[in-house]
Amino acid sequence: MRKHLIIAAISGALVLGGTAITSPVVNAAGNGPEYQGHETINTQILHTYQEMMTFLETQNKKQAQMEVEVIGQTVKGRDIPLVKYMSDPANPTILYLAQQHGDEALTTEGMLDYIKSLGTGKNKGVLDNVNILLIPMYNADGAMGDVNYELEDYAAKGPRHLTRYNANQVDLNRDHEARTQPETQALHQNVLQKYDIDYMIDLHHQGAQWVKDDKYVSGAIFYPYPEHTKADVLYKSKQLGAVVYEAIEPKGWGHLAKYAGKGSAYGAGIGVYGIANEYDISTLLLEMRGTADNAFDFEVLGQKSNGYLTKQSVIGMEKTAQAIADGSVLNESIEFWEDLPVQESILED
Ligand SMILES: [Zn+2]
Repeated sequence: MRKHLIIAAISGALVLGGTAITSPVVNAAGNGPEYQGHETINTQILHTYQEMMTFLETQNKKQAQMEVEVIGQTVKGRDIPLVKYMSDPANPTILYLAQQHGDEALTTEGMLDYIKSLGTGKNKGVLDNVNILLIPMYNADGAMGDVNYELEDYAAKGPRHLTRYNANQVDLNRDHEARTQPETQALHQNVLQKYDIDYMIDLHHQGAQWVKDDKYVSGAIFYPYPEHTKADVLYKSKQLGAVVYEAIEPKGWGHLAKYAGKGSAYGAGIGVYGIANEYDISTLLLEMRGTADNAFDFEVLGQKSNGYLTKQSVIGMEKTAQAIADGSVLNESIEFWEDLPVQESILED
């Protein structure tokens, strides 16, 4: 099933009311190529669940400050690992969550790169002043395409498909209130209710169709809902967003907008909103452009964009951890949010 699209914009012209007009939508930030069936996405280049587990085991042996805890199992029985750097209980703590949606794979790739870098001199001193929790592949069944339903018409090539939902076809990022799924129960019982967490960044990918100032975005950011979040928690969420924006926007490929799309309306089942509300954790949604697999072509982005999108996730984690560690996050101005445009879609149903 493919949605009917008005995709003329991609060839430089928009058809409005029967009149073709020239569209300025011609360049993607970072020159990321489109998919629309033209470019390969081979899922073979993405870590499998087992490769990720082996990677974590190797890093765990190398890194004295790193610990790995299993917080529960997926529907299909895969252990869900939580990577921990807990140097001092008195430090502020941040949780990075990747791949609630199994087709949003580069957040996982970025998180593994970041975990590796935490064992090098690159982030020296940071770990003494901030506690870091990371869940690199929350929806492992969806990421492995090991699910109880068919993945028909999915775009990616390779040994497996990836899907947004868990094995029971539940969107885990709508389940944070009802908590019907083992993955959600594990996160709430064994992470959110167990650790004293100050900040959380929820890493995602969105469709490839979003633009800001007539140029494809590299990603989007969003804070929790003011009506459902304590003022100081919201303020700190916006400060966290400021760190991410200032680190990414100046990059040649960096082009961030305010989020709009699936999940931009309030729901307590959505992680960044419900978790801010329930636990008073300052949360930030960080979306990368385009997913790794989908039945809908415009959700998907070709793999030539993998480099800068993976880097964008790494920078998002690295710079926020540094800013929390040195306290500079608390001095961030939140004014940029007022001027940050909400992204717009070039598609129409
Ligand atoms: Zn997502």
